[in-house]
Amino acid sequence: GMGKNRAHQIRTNVKFSDVGGIQEEKTELIELVDYFKNSKRYSEAGAKAPKGVLLEGPPGTGKTLLAKAVAGEAGVPFFSISGSEFEEMFAGVGASRVRDMFAEAKKAAPCIIFIDEIDAVGSKRFGPMGARGNEQTLNQLLVEMDGFDTNSGVIVMGATNRADVLDSALLRPGRFDRVIQVSLPDIREREEILKLHSRGKKISSKVNWHNIASRTPGFSGAQLANVLNEAAILMVRENKTEIGLVEIDEAIDRVVGGPAKKTRAMSQRD
Ligand code: ATP
Repeated sequence: GMGKNRAHQIRTNVKFSDVGGIQEEKTELIELVDYFKNSKRYSEAGAKAPKGVLLEGPPGTGKTLLAKAVAGEAGVPFFSISGSEFEEMFAGVGASRVRDMFAEAKKAAPCIIFIDEIDAVGSKRFGPMGARGNEQTLNQLLVEMDGFDTNSGVIVMGATNRADVLDSALLRPGRFDRVIQVSLPDIREREEILKLHSRGKKISSKVNWHNIASRTPGFSGAQLANVLNEAAILMVRENKTEIGLVEIDEAIDRVVGGPAKKTRAMSQRD
């Protein structure tokens, strides 16, 4: 049976409005949603839908969230797999898993296949399995992408922190021929992301998001989400009724300091 080897398939309600910042990238992805919604019009016009879109950017910048938003906006199923899952598989197992995933996806089309950490499969450098240990898996991925019709309704989205290590075969026309850069948020985008993640939380009127955004340069969307989560945890722990500046300050320290500092802060408190 497929059991453990099955790709994770979900239906998602994520929308573009859940993704803060990255306005230009969203515009490109809105086109992708349009291919799903009006695929008949595109094929009648003789237009080929894109097959593969690669999202490149630092960790935590919302690449997965964006891919889910494309699926959510288009109302199509979302199959996901992480390249790192292939690392502990024997080469032949990785290849058959790729084959199974595409077979399943074709049955469920229109849909999106999302391959996170695609560099773990498609790296041109030597991987943990030795020289080109993932070659069979990568070859299978290339075969699948070449094999399905452009208008089959399956679009493959990949994510990586570094497109520079990818085997150039992956980036050829008809494969991941569109690369979308997702960068760290600027101050205005950080403010937007903070506001998004403050939804559903009780926040003191003294909290000024623009000010917090100016104090968090270099933070990713994931780190900003973490700041608000940590602040909410502190609010509960301190028996407060809303998140104030003190909680946000401490939450920023925790997110910057990582787990080691977190432990120290907790033991001081307890
Ligand atoms: P990685 O490269 O580590 O896989 P990623 O770029 O795929 O990271 P996500 O997994 O999408 O990042 O982000 C993690 C979480 O951080 C999201 O689920 C969301 O809560 C928050 N987040 C990240 N970026 C944004 C954003 N632009 N707007 C709103 N939330 C964001």
